[in-house]
Amino acid sequence: MEELLRRSEKLTTVGQLAAGVAHEIRNPLTTLRGFLQMQQHSKTMNPLHTDIMLSELDRINLIVSEFLILAKPQAVNFQTKDVRYTLGDVVSLLDSEAHLHNIEFSVHFSAETILVHCEENQLKQVFINILKNAMEAMPSGGQITLMLYSEEPHLAVIRVIDEGEGISKERMQKLGEPFYTNKEKGTGLGLMISQRIIETHKGCFQIESEVGKGTVVTITLPRLQEEEVPQLME
Ligand code: ADP
Ligand code: MG
Repeated sequence: MEELLRRSEKLTTVGQLAAGVAHEIRNPLTTLRGFLQMQQHSKTMNPLHTDIMLSELDRINLIVSEFLILAKPQAVNFQTKDVRYTLGDVVSLLDSEAHLHNIEFSVHFSAETILVHCEENQLKQVFINILKNAMEAMPSGGQITLMLYSEEPHLAVIRVIDEGEGISKERMQKLGEPFYTNKEKGTGLGLMISQRIIETHKGCFQIESEVGKGTVVTITLPRLQEEEVPQLME
């Protein structure tokens, strides 16, 4: 009975999500159609209109690609990785963008190997989402602190601390709801997808925040001991 209930709850969530995606995509499609219709009988293209059309197309593309991450079958390519390199790659990827916005990453990684069983691309996606949110919360720059350490014996802890605008109690309650965003170009999908991915990795996802001070995102993942990974010992 309980299982049935849970299944029907899940179906409702999927249905709501699908309706949400359809709605979010229909808006830019309507705009695109309007502009195309306007231009149907004129010989020249107004560059202002083409700019809007391009950004509406980009928006559809972003929503679809974020959504696809959810649709991918889980547990396809789980491997054992040193999560210091996974997170390190993401930091290098975003470093120049951070510089452009006067943001500095302060990185504090454990000196020892931290192995986790993961779908590395999905985990990277989570780190990108979290770091981008931190950067977007700091329009006038500042420091983002990244910590990565192990909590004995079986936990890997990843913590991202920003000095951004923070999140009020009211907004906090809406986080994780699909399509909740306070950004003009946001999709409101990043956190929900990140939470799902961490769940499929049997980890935990936590957000603490203080308005005007900043936000701390903590992710914990099950950590493997080296003796649990025979292929690495060869
Ligand atoms: P998006 O970034 O597209 O808005 P997300 O799901 O990534 O969607 O985030 C949802 C909302 O959560 C953001 O619009 C923002 O209001 C809030 N948020 C997330 N991370 C932070 C952060 N580090 N600081 C302040 N607000 C945040
Ligand atoms: Mg985001």
